[in-house]
Amino acid sequence: DELISQIAAGEVIERPASVVRELVDNALDAGATQVTVRLSAGGVRLICVEDDGCGIAREELPVALKRHATSKIASLADLESVGTMGFRGEALAAIASVAELSLLSRTAEAASAHLLDGRSGELRPVARGIGTTVEVKELFFSTPARRKFLKTDATEFAHCVEAVRRHALARPDVGFAIWHEGKLAEQWRPAGQEQRWADVLGRDFIEHSVPVAWRAGPVRLAGRAGIPDAARSRADQQFAYVNGRYVRDKVLQHAARSAYEDVLHGQRQPVYVLQLEISPERVDVNVHPTKIEVRFRDGREVHQAVRHALEQALAAPRA
Ligand code: ADP
Ligand code: MG
Repeated sequence: DELISQIAAGEVIERPASVVRELVDNALDAGATQVTVRLSAGGVRLICVEDDGCGIAREELPVALKRHATSKIASLADLESVGTMGFRGEALAAIASVAELSLLSRTAEAASAHLLDGRSGELRPVARGIGTTVEVKELFFSTPARRKFLKTDATEFAHCVEAVRRHALARPDVGFAIWHEGKLAEQWRPAGQEQRWADVLGRDFIEHSVPVAWRAGPVRLAGRAGIPDAARSRADQQFAYVNGRYVRDKVLQHAARSAYEDVLHGQRQPVYVLQLEISPERVDVNVHPTKIEVRFRDGREVHQAVRHALEQALAAPRA
């Protein structure tokens, strides 16, 4: 079972940023209003994610570390229309199989917080407010081959920041902070959607982009699209979300490229933040363990909506 866990972990956990993504997912699922990420050595030595969410009850702490233990799926039908970020009940088990994991949590009902040491299984009361702290140390310590594939601390740190950035763009109502080696590296306070885009992507992007707003049948789109005179063109500034979940999707990417080709004749790379809302039964989010891919029931419908939405936004006269 240890081996199975490690193999499963390989699919989900590639690098520190994968851990960060899963832990922040969980914090948001728990209804956190503030998420703090602390990293050491790019996350390889330490990843600590702290939230003020609902917490985990003492007797649930050991259960949370078991494979396929999830509090989020009550029935098979739930799998079809997943409303939460995490849903496979694998992330904590996968992380615990490739690192030293400890869980510290307190619910509103509990008299104190409890700390679970993932390795020894020891459970003891400690002091903490309501919420959860997950600490992950020495990622891939028992799988040196995998550890060897990691890049420099600076690169791994950048990937971790990117993982938080993706969440932060879609959840302006939640505050985020990232610390590296004891220093505050990024902080995004709760804000409106426009303000959060500006905070995370920079004034630059806001000044050189146009609003996107579109509605067609079951598809709704909102966001911003970069225009050619952008001072800085970052190819990696393509943030797409489906029902609040960050995705990298061929249909969306192709539609965006087509729109930029049509309107701007390829004068620049597509740069955008796009939030697509669609009824859950029209999209399958269970395609890949990392949940970054989706499958639309009607790809053409989505392609057309994105293409038209961007074309309209890019072609609109600008002040
Ligand atoms: P999943 O998120 O798919 O359910 P995970 O392995 O990520 O699976 O987490 C297992 C369970 O642990 C969750 O279903 C949830 O009940 C609990 N949990 C994990 N992280 C948190 C958190 N930050 N706050 C509250 N509960 C959490
Ligand atoms: Mg999860």
